[in-house]
Amino acid sequence: MTGLYERDKRSLSTLSNLRFFPQSITGGKGSYLIAEDGRRLLDFSASWGAASLGHSHPALAAAVAGALKDQAGASHLSTANLPAVELAEKLLALVPDRAAGRVWLGHSGSDANETVARAVLAATGRSRILSFKGAYHGGTSGSMAVSGHPVQQGVPKAAGLSLIPFPDGYRDGGEAAAAQAALDHLRALLDGPVPPNEVAALFLEPIQSDGGMIVPPDGYFQEVEALCRRHGILIVADEVKVGLGRSGRFHAFEHLGIQPDIVVFGKGLGGGLPVSAAVGPEAIMNHSAAFSFQTVHGNPVCAAAAKAVLETIERDSLVEQAAEVGLHLKGLLERLQEKHALVGDVRGRGLALGVELVTDRQTKEAAKTATALTVYRAFELGLILYYVGVSSNVLEFTPPLTLTKEEATAGVALLDQALSDVAAGRVDQKKVAAFAGW
Ligand code: PMP
Repeated sequence: MTGLYERDKRSLSTLSNLRFFPQSITGGKGSYLIAEDGRRLLDFSASWGAASLGHSHPALAAAVAGALKDQAGASHLSTANLPAVELAEKLLALVPDRAAGRVWLGHSGSDANETVARAVLAATGRSRILSFKGAYHGGTSGSMAVSGHPVQQGVPKAAGLSLIPFPDGYRDGGEAAAAQAALDHLRALLDGPVPPNEVAALFLEPIQSDGGMIVPPDGYFQEVEALCRRHGILIVADEVKVGLGRSGRFHAFEHLGIQPDIVVFGKGLGGGLPVSAAVGPEAIMNHSAAFSFQTVHGNPVCAAAAKAVLETIERDSLVEQAAEVGLHLKGLLERLQEKHALVGDVRGRGLALGVELVTDRQTKEAAKTATALTVYRAFELGLILYYVGVSSNVLEFTPPLTLTKEEATAGVALLDQALSDVAAGRVDQKKVAAFAGW
């Protein structure tokens, strides 16, 4: 255990962060993090997708340094600044026409979703919101209020919130049955206790990531979109984790064949810096309820970082790279499924992938302990990845968009070893228990 990790534990609230490993990071380059003890760790998480360009990307570093130097120190925060305007113009050009009204800039996926949740209610004069069981839209009160992830159990929900099932082909009897059951549920809700003309918006994740990297069945969201259009319900696409090229298309909602009214960006937008954006119709984003002036919203440094991220994604064809390397990575993970009984399902799109671990492939019982042990063992072997899922049993892959095929292959070899070690009982459960808080 290193010194920095101990100081972290003594000084920072354990509730304001997640520290999966007894390790401190002192640097990084590309897809690798450098630990305090000098070890190189291959990063298959990229901080839950935030480090979209990998670590220490020169374009990001130059943009940040340039903005700090040129923009009157980031101190003229209440005047128009060039990076924020350019970022907004870029985002408006990237979203569907129906969303291309105004851009609201924030610090995190949470504050952007929270603002949208408030604004859609006020602007439509409707009192209800639909969201999905298992959905994670943020960690602030307002974004938690429209989320359905069990990790937030006990947090008060919005008064008019209804949580609907997210179709899960793996657990709900295959894609077609899962889609049908979820649609039946939604239709029954709108025919009964939730009058559709009272619903302001539906929040969706194009891949339900923190809920378990669940890919919705083909066609499901087109049916949902038709229902929403019929009743004037706005569609909010939360692209915070899987947007901006990660899914192998620029917007993850493109896979669904739908056109949202509002698009929310975060995480990878800043490449690790705190910046988010909600892009939607002027009537919503300029509504007084969207007011949430926070002193450094839209600051030129973070805006310049986001602009550099978008430019780099385009210049280096990172959407195409994510699609290609993602396919390679998924193929390797499918081979692990053939080899390891623990692997129940491999799913995802592009570089947004999930591997669900189960104790038994028939019963599909969540292998929660084995998942934590695998993540810990992978870390010991030199691979960073975390887990997600409503039962904490899905390994999550959100590496930098710059990941190469060679790096993907190297990482999967480490994961292969980790899974073998867990199956053979070679991982020290006591050590894992200490960090996992069991
Ligand atoms: N939306 C989604 C889909 C997310 O995955 C997350 C974070 N896991 C958020 C919103 C919240 O983003 P942030 O942590 O930046 O506030």
